[in-house]
Amino acid sequence: MDWTDTPEQAAFRAEVRGLIETKLPARYRTKLDFSFEEGWDADRKSDDPQRVTAAKEWASALAERGWIAPHWPKEYGGAGLSPMEQFIYRMEMAEARAPGVGGSGVQMLGPMLIVHGTEEQKQQHLSGILSGDVIWAQGYSEPGSGSDLASLQTRAVRDGDEYVVNGQKIWTSGAHHADWLFMLARTDPDAPKHRGISFLLLDRNTPGVSVRPLINMGWEHGFNETFFEDVHVPVSSRVGEENRGWYVGMTLLDFERSNITGAVDARRSLEALRDYVGTDEGAAKSRLASTPTLRGDLADRFIETEVMFNFSFRIISMQDRGLIPNYEASTSKLFNSELVQRMANTGVKVFGMHSNIWERDKAPMRAQFTRSYVGSVSATIAAGTSEVQRNIIATRGLGLPRG
Ligand SMILES: Cc1cc2nc3c(=O)[nH]c(=O)nc-3n(C[C@H](O)[C@H](O)[C@H](O)COP(=O)(O)OP(=O)(O)OC[C@H]3O[C@@H](n4cnc5c(N)ncnc54)[C@H](O)[C@@H]3O)c2cc1C
Repeated sequence: MDWTDTPEQAAFRAEVRGLIETKLPARYRTKLDFSFEEGWDADRKSDDPQRVTAAKEWASALAERGWIAPHWPKEYGGAGLSPMEQFIYRMEMAEARAPGVGGSGVQMLGPMLIVHGTEEQKQQHLSGILSGDVIWAQGYSEPGSGSDLASLQTRAVRDGDEYVVNGQKIWTSGAHHADWLFMLARTDPDAPKHRGISFLLLDRNTPGVSVRPLINMGWEHGFNETFFEDVHVPVSSRVGEENRGWYVGMTLLDFERSNITGAVDARRSLEALRDYVGTDEGAAKSRLASTPTLRGDLADRFIETEVMFNFSFRIISMQDRGLIPNYEASTSKLFNSELVQRMANTGVKVFGMHSNIWERDKAPMRAQFTRSYVGSVSATIAAGTSEVQRNIIATRGLGLPRG
């Protein structure tokens, strides 16, 4: 397989690099380790005018070319890039650690509205997503409904031209920075579980909506519990037919299924580790000299990273041929999330007791591996657990019977 760029792909890659070189604000260029509270979403709503300016400048630089939504059709304000161009675009953005703009509105809601939304809904919502002005959060999971999402209990009861919503969502990532929520709610409790759900859009500031922080084990505020108490939502904010929301919600696919960002990140982490342990300070703080098996661990991580690149290439080659990756996307997700954890594990082993230091300015490599050791625990849960991915690979990929 020859993965060398064609002349057109090379020209496109140069264009993306050119934009990053000229337009990526210094804040994102120089600061390499952002917590949840310091990324692009948080910058938009920061009290610090410099952070707000950086977020706006980057959003408008991307918006000028439709690159906030590289995968959306041009007629809806996206860039209409081919799957291969999207892949190159994401690879270059990941190499530069340039933050994505627009979050789940760009990745999930927009493409779904283009398929299922009314003209009014498209008019109302697409432009705010594309400019980076309106950020969305996803309200699917509930305390008793994660992998088995169709069992969700949040109720939306029809009252004339409105629904009255009561219930609770959990793990709503970024809801504290979001302006709007998209959610699934039960509109017919008597129907079979997949057939009594509707898909709703609502302004986060609607009376009765409250967002409470959930602090993760790395002491970061990334996700939340979201409560709904007699929240009135106009029927015109329902996407698709009443009780058919499950099928609408499932269209809302993540179009970036290659996980190329994961492969690039893994390679960069290993290269940074190799460079650091080659310095006098790095050699003194690492256990590489005293623990020969660590070299084997590092070699394994290098090999796995190249495998991850090949999983990504497989997905993109399918998308480029008009095929829809299915169990292949699960394979890539599963492998990538477990690689992130193994990488962190190897990194903390390399630095031994130094890995107990959490403060970035005191720890080797600014505590990169210590923090990802803690932060990556959720990688095998979020967006579908590893067990669920394995079920998909087993049944759809290997043709095994359901357990
Ligand atoms: C960092 C993070 C961000 C998230 N962001 C969002 C968000 O923005 N919006 C949102 O709606 N949700 C979000 N989620 C929720 C996420 O989608 C769920 O956590 C996930 O689907 C798993 O559901 P659960 O936590 O209820 O676990 P459960 O489904 O209760 O699973 C518990 C355990 O049982 C296993 N299990 C369950 N079913 C099966 C099965 N059929 N076969 C084998 N094993 C099984 C699971 O693998 C797991 O080990 C986020 C989660 C995380 C960790």
